[in-house]
Amino acid sequence: MSFVVSPPATVSVPVLGDAGKFPVRRVYCVGRNYAEHAREMGDSGREAPFFFSKPADAVLTIKDGETGNMTYPPQTSDLHHETELVVALGSGGVNLTVEQAEKAIWGYAVGLDMTRRDLQGAAKAKGRPWETGKAFEQSAPIGPLHPVSATGILEKGSITLAVNGQERQKGDLSDMIWSVAESIAHLSTLFELKAGDLIFTGTPSGVAAVVPGDELVASVEGLGQLKVKIAPAA
Ligand code: MN
Repeated sequence: MSFVVSPPATVSVPVLGDAGKFPVRRVYCVGRNYAEHAREMGDSGREAPFFFSKPADAVLTIKDGETGNMTYPPQTSDLHHETELVVALGSGGVNLTVEQAEKAIWGYAVGLDMTRRDLQGAAKAKGRPWETGKAFEQSAPIGPLHPVSATGILEKGSITLAVNGQERQKGDLSDMIWSVAESIAHLSTLFELKAGDLIFTGTPSGVAAVVPGDELVASVEGLGQLKVKIAPAA
């Protein structure tokens, strides 16, 4: 096969304790999946989950024990952190039951759904798509994947974020409005899921802005820490 321009590289995420990497097909995100964050964004109650996506090459992989650099993106003055549990799918399908959805889980990682909140807010106000707010370069920092064979199914455990040593976000996986398996099942009614898909499962309350020089430490109990330093705009 020959191509008329260079084909893009396959995006992949390191796996803890394995030389093999996880190839990324699509990146889906669940909106407003923790009650307190839903309230801070203006929702109430258990509304149906909604989804958006980021391109695979928005993934910024950060190795275990390292601090990654995320370049402050253009066209924003309100870059927000959203600390999230990321689930990686080892299989897919459509119209999965919750039980089938759970079996599709290959592993988990700590991730950040970085958001240009000002651009997202402007898009919301005009009923426009969210890509400019959500789907930009390096907008999906992620740590190494932990295979579900090692972690078991994660249904509870603390999820936190500190910026420059000060706690900003704190929640528990058990506070999710829709469990990971419920979110996967719902998503599979809208899209055909496949091995290689990543799903960011929503963020607890406490989202706020970061600026160049800030150091973020995101953690999910059992999955270690994800460390990101915000580098000055390119
Ligand atoms: Mn999010």
